[in-house]
Amino acid sequence: MNRIVLASCNPGKLKEFGALLADSGYEVLPQGRLGIEDVEETGLTFVENALLKARHAAHTSGLPALADDSGLCVEHLGGAPGLYSARYADTHGDSAANNAKLLRVLDGVPDERRDAFFICVLVLLRHAEDPAPLIAEGRWHGRVLHAPRGAQGFGYDPLFLPHGQTLSAAELDPALKNTLSHRAQALTKLHALLSAR
Ligand code: IMP
Repeated sequence: MNRIVLASCNPGKLKEFGALLADSGYEVLPQGRLGIEDVEETGLTFVENALLKARHAAHTSGLPALADDSGLCVEHLGGAPGLYSARYADTHGDSAANNAKLLRVLDGVPDERRDAFFICVLVLLRHAEDPAPLIAEGRWHGRVLHAPRGAQGFGYDPLFLPHGQTLSAAELDPALKNTLSHRAQALTKLHALLSAR
């Protein structure tokens, strides 16, 4: 089986990637298991940050690396929290504080102006100097709720009502989220790119 490093230390994402890649034929090693730490995300776009993460993991491990960069983009806020989704309220990874800030910023904004999408950009590098990475993107559209709902998932899931659903992303069965989400969509595209290669 091909070994591949997953360039993420986010437990919520690792859980979802584990499920999504279970039948992929790859042995997926989270970078933390190899002692690789997160690299600084200095890019100005999701794709730049995903490339930085994948290159760092491939360089440090000597293995092919898969990285994702993801976040929530709210139309009314010009795409914020966007790249800064994990640290919107300044402390990295404090979901309760991030969600509270998002609700505060959108206070009084009606449903029709609360459209948002989760985005996930996946980058697969065969090695650190790979000049032709595989890049796949997924978007999951919905809108931001007025109060959190549900206890599954992670991050902004309790505030995200996917289009066509009556349940928030944190109320959905995780298996269903894994068929609909931005990450699932990006992985499906990556599979297609891998089979076409
Ligand atoms: P990254 O680790 O820089 O990609 O940060 C992504 C951040 O976006 C996470 O910490 C979450 O706040 C948010 N995010 C990404 N994907 C999801 C998701 O599926 N549900 C909820 N929040 C997400």
